[in-house]
Amino acid sequence: MTFNDLKLTPAILKALGKENYTAPTPIQEQAIPVVLAGRDLFGCAQTGTGKTAAFALPIVQLLTEQQSKPGRVRRTRSLILTPTRELALQIADNIKAYGQFTDLRCLAIVGGVSQKVQERALEQGADIIIATPGRLIDLINQKFVDLQAVQILVLDEADRMLDMGFINDVKKIIAKMPSKKQTLFFSATMPPEISKLVKTLLVNPVKVEVTPASTTVERIEQSVYFVEKASKQGLLNELLKDKSITSALVFTRTKHGADRVVRGLTKVNITAQAIHGNKSQNSRQNALLNFRSGATRVLVATDIAARGIDIDELSHVINFNLPNIPETYVHRIGRTGRAGLSGIAISFCETEERPYLRDIEKKIKKTIPVAVDHSDSMLTI
Ligand code: AMP
Repeated sequence: MTFNDLKLTPAILKALGKENYTAPTPIQEQAIPVVLAGRDLFGCAQTGTGKTAAFALPIVQLLTEQQSKPGRVRRTRSLILTPTRELALQIADNIKAYGQFTDLRCLAIVGGVSQKVQERALEQGADIIIATPGRLIDLINQKFVDLQAVQILVLDEADRMLDMGFINDVKKIIAKMPSKKQTLFFSATMPPEISKLVKTLLVNPVKVEVTPASTTVERIEQSVYFVEKASKQGLLNELLKDKSITSALVFTRTKHGADRVVRGLTKVNITAQAIHGNKSQNSRQNALLNFRSGATRVLVATDIAARGIDIDELSHVINFNLPNIPETYVHRIGRTGRAGLSGIAISFCETEERPYLRDIEKKIKKTIPVAVDHSDSMLTI
């Protein structure tokens, strides 16, 4: 199937050509016709499947097809809610790219940056707002944002919004919109609260589901080191002597842990920066930019901060700590091996993390091979 078959307009096809998208991904094939037909959608998919374009392309198309009213201030016709600032900014960048040959205006509204700049941008109006819930609520309450003209609502990574305690904010925001609208709902997992929300928000939805997890996981070369806590930093430093590790995303359990790992790497002259919730938005963006450009070789992240990070050609994911939720492991390692590339995922497992490893192996239905020792002194078990 081609994008042409999906009946996208020439302006969008031209933008996709410029972005070097050759063929739609499975979720795009399934979702685009449904959204273009005006139906509600429940998408079960993770980052890395192309889900952003799956909802963004038809939104750009539907909004441009409507008659624009010259001389009038643009009213916001689509709202996209996401759990993290990084994800919001990334979606805004994608929409700008997809809509570059249209006259749509989109705007990201996120916390951690000056509200004044956003107020000024809002004065000019935006067809599409991509927002994290907290800042959006503030701006709605101060009457800088009016959602009365919203026709298409997207809830992206709804399960993560729930985990992060945003669900009440999301409900308050939805109450400010017309009840008659098209809703597109994305969630990688289906806890009971999410099913409840789907039932209350969606009208006769079409469900599209892609399971990148197993296919992605299959392509990724995985290994585990059994190593005690105190030896993990030494092992990481040792592994990173290998120059073929061009870019590594390292996951730690805690924010302090992330900072500690960065200090440990900096000591041995390995360029590294941390990205987590305690950092200002600017410093998070700066860390991402440096990592993307190759100026830093290692990005150390906690799960929440890493959510939505999209880095092309990431060669390695290293789990400094194993997550206690198996899906999180799948999510983490799915950040390498994107777009058909093979990737490498290395995990460090201390004694207390053994049960997590067992759960992960049950989830991915395979045993993760134990890595061959690089240095005997390093491996204490
Ligand atoms: P997402 O799951 O939306 O975060 O997308 C993951 C990555 O795949 C992003 O870098 C997109 O720009 C890219 N992407 C999405 N759709 C396509 C496509 N049809 N062809 C090539 N790359 C794509």
